Amino acid sequence: MADINKPIKFSDQFLKRISQKTSDPNFKIEDWSNDDIQDIRKYIRDYYRDLTKKCFYCRKEISLKSANNCHIEHIIPKSSNLNFIFEPKNLCVICSDCNEIKLAKEVENKIDKVTKRKKPYKRYPKSSEAFLIIHPHFDNYDDHIFQCEDIYIDLSPKGTYTMYICKLNRKLHKYGIEPLALSQSELFDLFNKIMNETNFTRQGILLNKLRSYFIKAS
Ligand SMILES: [Zn+2]
Repeated sequence: MADINKPIKFSDQFLKRISQKTSDPNFKIEDWSNDDIQDIRKYIRDYYRDLTKKCFYCRKEISLKSANNCHIEHIIPKSSNLNFIFEPKNLCVICSDCNEIKLAKEVENKIDKVTKRKKPYKRYPKSSEAFLIIHPHFDNYDDHIFQCEDIYIDLSPKGTYTMYICKLNRKLHKYGIEPLALSQSELFDLFNKIMNETNFTRQGILLNKLRSYFIKAS
């Protein structure tokens, strides 16, 4: 199941203000940070924070009160498409590290199957296939990434791409450690979690992935 199955709903008053703001011909990305919409940003942050209680990409804790370490994430970046800046399905909350790392990296799977050309979205997509990354409103995270503490294993192309643009194995990489040069307790927890998988196909895939990591690391 997707993390978010009820996108935020804005009050009529908020919708009116959002419409006034975005219909201004001079409306630009920087206006997202304006003081006059601080209450709208707070409403968005609190709504998705209360709903998900963690960073969507790395699954780690976010601040429970503060705006620090609880950033409103625009899944399609503001810089790519200003039309989706208040789009409920384009929003979630993430931690400071993911926010700083993901930035404006491309997430839209917008190559037209017929023309093979890039086709920017005019309307917000309604399905998972429209995105290169795992989408909090459309995808089940666990289908794409296996996570055990600071260790992430990709289970699909979306998982691979999400891990790449958010550098999810960042803790292991930051300290120059090979992915499987883990402490005994980390390795124990990892194997334990994999061996407790009840879906044997998934367990097999995870064990094969681990095997290939061992071969790469040796
Ligand atoms: Zn994160």
